[in-house]
Amino acid sequence: MIAHKIRLDPTDAQARLFDEWAEASRCAWNWALSEWERQHLDRVGGQRFKRVGRTGLVPVGEPWSPDPERPSPSAAGLSRLLTEVRREAPLGTLRWMRPPIPARVYRQPIRDLATAWSAYHRRRALGQRRGGPSNPFGGPVPKRIEAPRSFYLSGQDLEIDGGYVELPFGHRVRLREAPRFRGRVVGSTFSERAGSWSVALTVEFERKRQEPPAGTHAGIRLGASTLATVGARTAAASPDGAGAGRALLAADVPAAYARDLRRLRRLSKDVARKTRGSHNRRKAIQRLRRHHARLADLRRDALHKLTTGIVRLAASVGVEDAADVLGVESISRAVAELGFYEFRRQLEYKAAEAGVEIAVAERLFPAARLCSACGAAHRLPEERWRGVRRWTCVHCGAEHDRDLNAAVNLDPVSFGAGPNGPELPAR
Ligand SMILES: [Zn+2]
Repeated sequence: MIAHKIRLDPTDAQARLFDEWAEASRCAWNWALSEWERQHLDRVGGQRFKRVGRTGLVPVGEPWSPDPERPSPSAAGLSRLLTEVRREAPLGTLRWMRPPIPARVYRQPIRDLATAWSAYHRRRALGQRRGGPSNPFGGPVPKRIEAPRSFYLSGQDLEIDGGYVELPFGHRVRLREAPRFRGRVVGSTFSERAGSWSVALTVEFERKRQEPPAGTHAGIRLGASTLATVGARTAAASPDGAGAGRALLAADVPAAYARDLRRLRRLSKDVARKTRGSHNRRKAIQRLRRHHARLADLRRDALHKLTTGIVRLAASVGVEDAADVLGVESISRAVAELGFYEFRRQLEYKAAEAGVEIAVAERLFPAARLCSACGAAHRLPEERWRGVRRWTCVHCGAEHDRDLNAAVNLDPVSFGAGPNGPELPAR
């Protein structure tokens, strides 16, 4: 199961509808939480409790013995109760759950609450208390009106139709980008951030292994001069200087990203210049938030393109150890900003889907310093490497593009993860 987050482009009326559904979801959570606590207190009778934080109730004194006559609160029980409450509620009350609101919108929070309680009890049983300063109790707390807005719909509630998502009651909302998955949608979370709505679709795959190019092994070098270079060893990798590999893919940092990064700096300065508490400052903050959201989208998009491209190239791909990538100064800021862990996460699940093997090189594997043609290790001080894009091997005379050479060295066969065993020269 994989989540795909897609930005939405709702009309004003649709955005108001989303607000209403998110509010229903929040109210259902709060209603269920207080009802859960009430039933629990009813059941445990004489047990004394200590209030921790805003809502947490922690038992004190002797452990209680539950009243067997009263059932313990459950999601199913609360769901039934909510239906009754709704049937009998006088008109004008419980407005948050009046149709046209899909039933799932106020039923899912009840399930989520049950899940949250069991997670809480599991943690307590293990002796872990995960309360923080804002919630010392560590269990479920009421959702405030300022909390981020979201609601859940199941797979049956919606349909993806071209560039649109179809919701209950015939609402068709435009998607900002085409969905890039095959498979069945099982659930969806709609959420708002900085004034714009997105939907995260949970998709179940029919696992269909596409045939990756047999016998191709590639390495990925996250880049100093580019975003990423994927290279493979050629049969002709030889000391004649013809080069020691071929680039399968060279991905650059998207131009739009660099431009938007400059705009981000300007917008941040705008906020700093405005008077604290002023209307203009609020507006500037809104603009900055929207821009952050846009940048996040661009990043996600660039990473998806990159990782989708990579798994089509080879039967196995090698990557550097995470600590090596993030610890090296020469690795561009773009890699860190684009989200190295997100890159690895996407690469791993897409590789699993496509039947491509991922191998991680051992820590401190000197991918950049080995000549991929003759295998000689070059021991140059770190400063000498800075800013170098091309270099020539002093042993065999091969000319190298720095990133491509490193990528070729990272193909799994080169570092010993492949079928042929280690081929590394002694370092
Ligand atoms: Zn060489």
